[in-house]
Amino acid sequence: MSAALALAGKGLQVTVLEAQDQVGGKMRGVPVDGSLIDGGPTVFTMKWVFDELFDETGLSFDDSISLTKADLLARHAWDESGHLDLFTDIDRSAAAIGAFCGVDEAVNFREFAAEAASMYATLEGPFLKSSKPGMLGMSLKLGLRGLTVKPFSTLWSTLEKRFSDPRLIQLFGRYSTYTGASPFLAPATLMLIAHVELDGVWIVKGGMRELAQTMRRACEHKGVTIKTGATVSKVEVKNGAVSAAILGNGERLAADVIVLNADASALGEGLFGETVRRAVAPVPASKRSLSAIGWTLKAKTAGFPLAHHSVFFGRDYPEEFEAVFRRGRYPHDPTVYICAQDRVDTGDLAEIDMKERMLMVINAPPNGDSSDANTKEMEQCMERSLARLEACGLHVDVDQQASVPTGPADFNRLFPATGGALYGRANHSPTASFQRPDNRTSIPGLYLAGGSVHPGPGVPMAALSGRLAAARIMDDLASTRPSRRTVTVGGMSTA
Ligand SMILES: Cc1cc2nc3c(=O)[nH]c(=O)nc-3n(C[C@H](O)[C@H](O)[C@H](O)COP(=O)(O)OP(=O)(O)OC[C@H]3O[C@@H](n4cnc5c(N)ncnc54)[C@H](O)[C@@H]3O)c2cc1C
Repeated sequence: MSAALALAGKGLQVTVLEAQDQVGGKMRGVPVDGSLIDGGPTVFTMKWVFDELFDETGLSFDDSISLTKADLLARHAWDESGHLDLFTDIDRSAAAIGAFCGVDEAVNFREFAAEAASMYATLEGPFLKSSKPGMLGMSLKLGLRGLTVKPFSTLWSTLEKRFSDPRLIQLFGRYSTYTGASPFLAPATLMLIAHVELDGVWIVKGGMRELAQTMRRACEHKGVTIKTGATVSKVEVKNGAVSAAILGNGERLAADVIVLNADASALGEGLFGETVRRAVAPVPASKRSLSAIGWTLKAKTAGFPLAHHSVFFGRDYPEEFEAVFRRGRYPHDPTVYICAQDRVDTGDLAEIDMKERMLMVINAPPNGDSSDANTKEMEQCMERSLARLEACGLHVDVDQQASVPTGPADFNRLFPATGGALYGRANHSPTASFQRPDNRTSIPGLYLAGGSVHPGPGVPMAALSGRLAAARIMDDLASTRPSRRTVTVGGMSTA
């Protein structure tokens, strides 16, 4: 929808075709016991991406959506050692870290935050906002500054050098999971995600799915036609260029340009036809990013002061990622993230003893398309997740009637050809981010947008990719292809 809005803003005639009956994709509301619960993204960062997108189309993002900037980023808990809050205010975070882990760690945190900010500043222009750069091009552009983003060290080893408290290493290592990567394999560059969060997190009134509705309204305001329940089964190519989208029911919609927002693997797996298959190589199963159990439920809770965002850490982080990525299994002692959706950032709840709406996210192997995808194992992992919460002091009274888990196999069904991987190719090497497909393909008229392509996953990044795809399309429409060589060369004027 970000590509659609940007293109409609430039006067193009745009139709959005969405297979589901709601727009938003992973940003979806799951019906649970008479309520809708956000079952996908819950942490909204990089608001500027949407501010700019709306500005460029003559709209105001602030006037289109109701947002509250959170003071408290997240509450973090380990067994019974109390909890650590992080804030957008660096001084408050440093004070909280000082009280929790000692004053030296507060100093280390300040240095870490400064380094993460500097990495972000180095990469925002040349990587995030640019058409897909190659590793060589980036190295030439950044020169020695390229080394300051630490592509050749892992996030975990870098954090081990910075912090001595293992809880802080785990807390900041977890940021790699925002791109579906293991902190033990991801480059230290991903510490810039910590900066993105420290830079601001917003809570959307009505839930994150309201962001999808806001995008829909903006698109329609600009004249975009949105068709839901419209599954594209083929991208038709004629004379070497895109000519139409063919729907599952046989309907043909002629198009000069198609921006494909399904996971790029679906293209490479041939789900849009053989002709366009060559545009993208599918991601091998061993290179996929994390899947998850997205457990939406309404439940009474007790014993722990939940915030809007709370994280309960498992005891053995190396085992957690070893299980998920190397053995294709669920973690033995999972880390559990909870978004308590009826709470404001600091945790106040309108009615204390009501059942509250929650999403729990638990790391899971991206094998939802294989015979190893095991529901029994998933249920056992959910049990262990509840035990993890108990160990941290939180009791959740689960009512089976008000509990809807979505696991790797479900995500694979919703987002075909992914195996349930939620973030495209895992960022597990210095070159992995350069291996994501470009927004422009080799097939004239076919472009890509979304979390599986450049610049990467997450709501704002997927939106950025839509804007980048739109910019490439406008460039290509405006460019005048060189005419063929003729007999007379050299600029002689001819009739
Ligand atoms: C549990 C969970 C938690 C997350 N947490 C966060 C978070 O806190 N913050 C954050 O920023 N990000 C988070 N993410 C990641 C974020 O949701 C994604 O990176 C982002 O939403 C991806 O958007 P997208 O447009 O690339 O893809 P999608 O949301 O997957 O959209 C693709 C769309 O294409 C449609 N489609 C696919 N094939 C076809 C077809 N053949 N015909 C028609 N339509 C088709 C799909 O139905 C879907 O609507 C989370 C994801 C999950 C699942």
